[in-house]
Amino acid sequence: MTEPPAPRAAASGPPAGSGAVTAILELQAPAAAPAPALEALSPEPKRYDVVILGGAAAGASAAILLRRDAPGLSVLIVERAAAFDAKVGEATTEMSAMFLTRRLAQWEHLERQHLPKEGLRYWFSNSRVHGHAEASESGPYQRSTVPSFQLRRDVLDEHLLATAVKEGAELRRPARAVEVEVGDFAHRVIIEGEGNETVACRWLLDATGRATFLGKRLGLIERNHEHPTSAIWCRWEGVRHVDDLAARGPLAFSRANVGSRRLSTNHYMGYGYWVWIIPLGNGDTSIGVVFDRRLVSLQQGKYREAEYVDFLRAIPAVAELIEGARLRRDDLRSYSHLAYVTRQYMGNGWALLGDAAAFLDPYYSPGLDHVAFSVEATVEIVKADFAAAAGEATAPVPLTPAISSMAARPPSPELAARIAEHNAAFLRSYHRFFQAVYKDKYYYMGEADLLTASMLLDTAQYYIFLVIPAYNFFGRFHWMPVFGPQPAFFSYHLMRIYNRRFKALAQARRGAGEEDLRNDGRRVKMLFDLKLAPFRMGAKGVKLWAWAELDNLRLAAKGAFRRKPAPARGDERVDVEDAAPQAPRVK
Ligand SMILES: Cc1cc2nc3c(=O)[nH]c(=O)nc-3n(C[C@H](O)[C@H](O)[C@H](O)COP(=O)(O)OP(=O)(O)OC[C@H]3O[C@@H](n4cnc5c(N)ncnc54)[C@H](O)[C@@H]3O)c2cc1C
Repeated sequence: MTEPPAPRAAASGPPAGSGAVTAILELQAPAAAPAPALEALSPEPKRYDVVILGGAAAGASAAILLRRDAPGLSVLIVERAAAFDAKVGEATTEMSAMFLTRRLAQWEHLERQHLPKEGLRYWFSNSRVHGHAEASESGPYQRSTVPSFQLRRDVLDEHLLATAVKEGAELRRPARAVEVEVGDFAHRVIIEGEGNETVACRWLLDATGRATFLGKRLGLIERNHEHPTSAIWCRWEGVRHVDDLAARGPLAFSRANVGSRRLSTNHYMGYGYWVWIIPLGNGDTSIGVVFDRRLVSLQQGKYREAEYVDFLRAIPAVAELIEGARLRRDDLRSYSHLAYVTRQYMGNGWALLGDAAAFLDPYYSPGLDHVAFSVEATVEIVKADFAAAAGEATAPVPLTPAISSMAARPPSPELAARIAEHNAAFLRSYHRFFQAVYKDKYYYMGEADLLTASMLLDTAQYYIFLVIPAYNFFGRFHWMPVFGPQPAFFSYHLMRIYNRRFKALAQARRGAGEEDLRNDGRRVKMLFDLKLAPFRMGAKGVKLWAWAELDNLRLAAKGAFRRKPAPARGDERVDVEDAAPQAPRVK
């Protein structure tokens, strides 16, 4: 998965395969019960300008923007769930928060129903750690100056969907798309709700999340086998407040922070895994484990609850927080494989939004960023298409049984170019993001200095190249995904280099039996702002990296003088299929 597959410009059918990410397994189109033939259902389907499948964050946001920016467009949303359940995707980033506040204008809702987020915080452990007070900690010591939120996703998604309806979108709910016929800017969808209904549209937007409804039918979705990660999570009641623990603990612990630690996205890191602890506005706490199956094994089946709880209890600082807390049993969820990607984001009159197109890893919370970028980019192209049509005298398009042969207005060369650019930017971003940030990161997640250095360097670049320009220079949300611009190759290569290097350093430590050594008694303070803080973050990251390299020289010298090398515990990388189950390895 080194090179992004070449996107096809403005094609309506499935493109040729890419060599990088292979076989479609879970994501293959399901062998569903045969759907009724399109022609048999309704000879004259109701016609919309845009039909959006899925009415959660991505679908509802697209509908809001389309109706607000182009009120003349008829928009239909089809949402399967009668009500949203408490799902994951609870922490925003600075960019997804900007999209929610400045583009969707949802400040009031966010302030009333959700919590502010105070940056990213990391805790590490080794045999000397018995709780937070001894754990190495990396995180902000003061409140962040850039808005971000800890969300209750069911509440947010319900609100966005209601807003879309208020703005004039039509809604079918509960109703699900069961079949689709994709044409050239002319599509038909069979919807199963109270009864069966067929609708037709010029633009079909798929926002069905991991169901990847349209992507599957077009044969576009590929599983990312190079990133074998899984997740298991649940909401908890009665989780203890980390700042109250600090207030009652040793003075150094409480003095080390001015702002609220609890409001950060707290990460508890170890070899091959990370745990998120996210506070929610209703008093519950979301706790999830994400792990690399090459390094950690955690049951997804019958005994998953017991293993999940044992796993958390084995991490001293987490055990401290969940002492006396109750998990909401009915809320326990897991995904056995997280990462996948489409081979094409957009074609002639169709597009994939948010998780319907791709998902990489929840580390750094890029999910809603991707929702925001893909929605904004798609909406701009759809609007441009209809704006171009407004100048033309278009006769009503006749609906014949064979919709794919309908004489729909062809795309202008400008539109075709924009669709090509859209595909290229999003695919480039996904593949660069994976290679530069996530590939094999779980090998060094348990090393406080290495993980902190990568976090500082990654975040510094996110701020310097995205957040600061968006707030300080443009003043508005811009559609381009993180690694989409061609010039982002500089960050891409730099990040790839240090990501690979940190893995090698971590492996060398494990080989010498010196892993985890820096995981107690250290504190790296940071600040999130739009001025100099990101540059200081970058400098601190480089410093930590340099120290780690010097220490590696010491290790190398030690190894050279050692008569009998220690048995290599280093590269435990094995194919998932061959991996013998290991007990969760938590110190
Ligand atoms: C473990 C984990 C942790 C995460 N943590 C974060 C985080 O902290 N921050 C973050 O930003 N992101 C996070 N994410 C990612 C985030 O959850 C997603 O990116 C986000 O929810 C995607 O929104 P969406 O609207 O694209 O899809 P979804 O929220 O999945 O919505 C899809 C909608 O489509 C509907 N639907 C499905 N099929 C059909 C059909 N056939 N017809 C009609 N409707 C249909 C569904 O009912 C659903 O409402 C996390 C993801 C995982 C797996």
